[in-house]
Amino acid sequence: MFTFKEIAHVMGGTLAQWKANYPVQHLVTDSRKLVNAASSVFFAIRGEFHDGHQYLPELYAQGVRQFVVEDAAGIMDLAAYPEANILLVSSSIEAMQRLAAYHRRQFTLPVIGITGSNGKTIVKEWLAQLLSVSERVVKSPRSYNSQIGVPLSVWQINESHTVGVFEAGISRPGEMEKLADVLQPTLGIFTNLGSAHDEGFENRNQKLQEKLRLFTHVDKLIYCADQVPVHYAIQKAGLPGFTWSKAELPSAAADVQVKVLEMRQRKTKIRFHYQGHGQDLTLPFSDEASLENALHCLAALLYLGVAPEQMASRFERLTPVAMRLERKEAINGCYVIDDTYNNDVAGLRIALDVLAHQARRGRKTLILSDLLEAGMEEEALYQQVAQEISARGVDRVIGIGDIITRHQDLFPKGSEFYLGTDSFLGQLRPETFRQETILVKGARVFQFEKIVAALQQQVHGTMLEVNLDALVHNLNYYRSRLQPQTKIMVMVKAFAYGAGSYEIANLLQFHRVDYLAVAYTDEGVALREHGITLPIMVMNPSADSFLKMEQYALEPEIYSPDLLHRFLDYFPEKTPKTPRIHLKLDTGMHRLGFDAAELEEALAVLDQMPHVRVQSVFSHLAGADEALYNDFSREQIAQFTQMAARVEKSLGYTVTKHILNSAGIVRFGEEAAFDMVRLGIGLYGVESSGSDQGSLLTVGQLKTTVSQVKQIKAGDTVGYSRRGVADTDKQTATIAIGYADGYDRRFGNGVGEVLIHGQRAPIIGNVCMDMCMVDVTGLDVRADDEVLIFGEGLPLTELAARIGTIPYELLTNVSTRVKRVFYNE
Ligand SMILES: *Cc1c(COP(=O)(O)O)cnc(C)c1O
Repeated sequence: MFTFKEIAHVMGGTLAQWKANYPVQHLVTDSRKLVNAASSVFFAIRGEFHDGHQYLPELYAQGVRQFVVEDAAGIMDLAAYPEANILLVSSSIEAMQRLAAYHRRQFTLPVIGITGSNGKTIVKEWLAQLLSVSERVVKSPRSYNSQIGVPLSVWQINESHTVGVFEAGISRPGEMEKLADVLQPTLGIFTNLGSAHDEGFENRNQKLQEKLRLFTHVDKLIYCADQVPVHYAIQKAGLPGFTWSKAELPSAAADVQVKVLEMRQRKTKIRFHYQGHGQDLTLPFSDEASLENALHCLAALLYLGVAPEQMASRFERLTPVAMRLERKEAINGCYVIDDTYNNDVAGLRIALDVLAHQARRGRKTLILSDLLEAGMEEEALYQQVAQEISARGVDRVIGIGDIITRHQDLFPKGSEFYLGTDSFLGQLRPETFRQETILVKGARVFQFEKIVAALQQQVHGTMLEVNLDALVHNLNYYRSRLQPQTKIMVMVKAFAYGAGSYEIANLLQFHRVDYLAVAYTDEGVALREHGITLPIMVMNPSADSFLKMEQYALEPEIYSPDLLHRFLDYFPEKTPKTPRIHLKLDTGMHRLGFDAAELEEALAVLDQMPHVRVQSVFSHLAGADEALYNDFSREQIAQFTQMAARVEKSLGYTVTKHILNSAGIVRFGEEAAFDMVRLGIGLYGVESSGSDQGSLLTVGQLKTTVSQVKQIKAGDTVGYSRRGVADTDKQTATIAIGYADGYDRRFGNGVGEVLIHGQRAPIIGNVCMDMCMVDVTGLDVRADDEVLIFGEGLPLTELAARIGTIPYELLTNVSTRVKRVFYNE
C-alpha cells in the first residue's frame, strides 16, 4: 500500500501539511459517496457545476484525513484541518491521473483499452465475461470511461489480476492522451466511428485522430477493416492493426475473415477464418450492433491465443448486458432496483450508492448473490462486502448462494441466507416486503430476473421510462446558463410533470438544487413523507391547510391580501419556528398575485407582523415562450424590479427575488435571473422557447406493447363507430394504451402516430379507453413488440402540435396507472 507522502511525490504539487501516515486505499471524488473515511483520499475537483472544495469541512468532520486540493490563492485555512495531510496541486484531476498511471506501472499484466463511438461498454463487459473462463479479469465498472472514471477504474488493479479490460471515452481534444497515460493499454480495440460527441471536435477526422491516441503504444489494435475511414486513418498513423472483416470481397486481407451464414430469431450463425483455419460459431442474438460488438471480442480472443474450437462454448453463454440500473415500482409500495447481470465489488458499490441515496422512508433491503470477483481471497472479499453494505445503511441483507451463505457470520444479525434462487423463491412471503427499497444484485448465473419478476408490480405493459441521467444533464444545462450563485427552484408540481415526484425530488435533492415547488399542500406533504428535506414552496395553498403546512415545514405562496390575513389568523404571534412566506406579484400574467395597490396593503400588514419572514418575492412571465412577447416580458421584468425593491425597502431586509421559468432562463437568463429561477418543463427535456432544444436530452419515453396483429380486408372497419375504414387490405396492430392511460383521444383517426421498430405507424380508428389500433401494413410487427408513444424519434412538441396542445399537457396527462421506470445509463 502507498503512503500519502509517496503518492504526493507521484502527483507533484506542494505538501502543505503532513501529519501522519494514514492508509491510502480509496480515492474519493464525490463527498456523497464516502464509505471508509479513515482510508480515503479526497480529491477536491472543480467542475462546471460543483466545486469539491465546498465539502472539505464536511468530509473532515466525517473523518477524512487526506486531501488533494487546488488552492492557487492559498486561502485555505489549514488550521481548520489540524490532523489532515494536505497536498496542494494545480489540478486535482490531473493529480489523480498521475497517481493512477503510477499505480498502473506497478503491474505488467496485459491491458485491453477500448474506445470508439458506440459499443464500448458492451464490448468491455462481454470481453470480461469471455475471458473470465481462464483469466482473472479487472475491468471498469459500468461506463466509467471519463477523465475521472478511468483513473478510478485503473486504481482497482492488484497483483492477483491477469488481464485488465477498460474503456475510455472522451468529449474534447487533448483528453485521450491523458487517459492513454493512465491505462497504458497493451492491446487496443476501436469499436467504430459515429456521431457521439461530434460537437466537441472540429470534424469527425479530428475526433478519430484524437481517439487513436489511446493506441500510440499498443502491440496490436483490433478494428473492423470494413470501416474505410477508420482503416485508412489507422494505416496512415502506422498503428499495428489486427483486423476483422465481413466483406464479401475483402479489399485487403483481414486477420479474421467472417461470413454471416444466417441471422434470424435471436441467433446469428457465422463462419470465421483465422490462420488458415475455418470454424463455425453461433451467437445468441440477431442484430447488427451486437454482431459488431461480438466480432471485436472474437478477434481479441483469437489474438490472445484462445483456440478457435473453444469459441463455441465461450460465446454460447454470452449474455446481454443491462446498460441501465432500473428502478421499478413493486409490490406493497416497494421499489425494486434491478441490477441482475453481474456481480463484482465495483459494480456492487455503484448499485449500493444508488440504494443509499433513496430518500424514501422505509427499509433498505439488499438481495445479493455470490460475488464473482476475480483475485480476492474469499474471506477478505466478503469482509469487504459486508463493510460496504453496513457503511451505506442497508437494513436487511438476503444472501443467495453457497459461498455467501458460508460467510453469513460477517453480515448483520437478522440477515437471511439461501443456497439458491429457487429455494429463496420457494419460501418467498411477499407480505414481508413493505414500503422498502430493494436492491436486487446478482451475477447472471443466479437468474435474479426471476426475483425481480416476483417482486415487481404486475400491471399492463405500458410504462413511462424516465432517464435520470438525462434529467441531470438538463439540470446542468440550465445551470450552465446561469451565474453559479443563482439559486434554482425546481417545479415538481403535478407529479413532477408526470415523471414521478419522489424519485425526481430525491434526485434533485441529491444534486443540490435549492428549492422545490408544488401546486398543492398534499403534494408537499407527500414529498416530506418520502424523506425530502429541501425547502418546499406551495403555490396554491388553501387557508385550511396552513397548520398542516407548518407541521410539514412547507412554505406558502401568498398572492392576495385576503390570503395574507388568513395566514396571519393562524400565526398571529411569534412561534418557535419563524413562518416563512413567498409573495407573488402580478406583473401582467393576471393569474395570481398582488397588484401595486394590494401590495401596499400587504406591506402595511406585514409591517405589523415582523415575526413572519418573507422568504422570497416573485412574479411569472406570461409570454416567455415566444419572442413575439419579448417586449412585454421586459416590461414585466421592469415592473417586478420596482415592486421587489419596494418590498425590500418596506421590510428592511433583502429577500430572494425570482421571475424566470424555463423558457425565461434561455431568453433572459443573463439580464433577469435575479437571485433564483424556477425551472420546470426544461428539466424534463422540452425547451419551450424553441432555440435550445438541441442542448437538452429526452427524459421521458412512454412505451407500450402490441397485444395482437390482424389482417383486415379492404372495406373492413376498425374500432368504435366504424371510424377506421380500410381502403385497401391492411395489417393492424392493437396496442395496450388508451385515453385512460393519458393517450389523448384526439390522436385517433390518423392524427397521431407511434413508432414500432423505428418506423412510424398512424392510429387507425378511434382511440379506446385502454387500447387503440395502428396501421402497420407492410411492417414486420408481432405481438409483444415494443411501441413508442412519445420519446426519442417522436418528440412531444410534434405530437402536441398535432392535436393543438402543448407538451406540458401530454406529459402531465400520463395516468398514474402507468408504471414509471427510472433508470441511469
Ligand atoms: C409551472 C411554473 C413554472 C415553471 O414553468 P416552465 O414553463 O415549466 O418552466 C414557473 N413558475 C410558476 C409560477 C409556475 O407555475
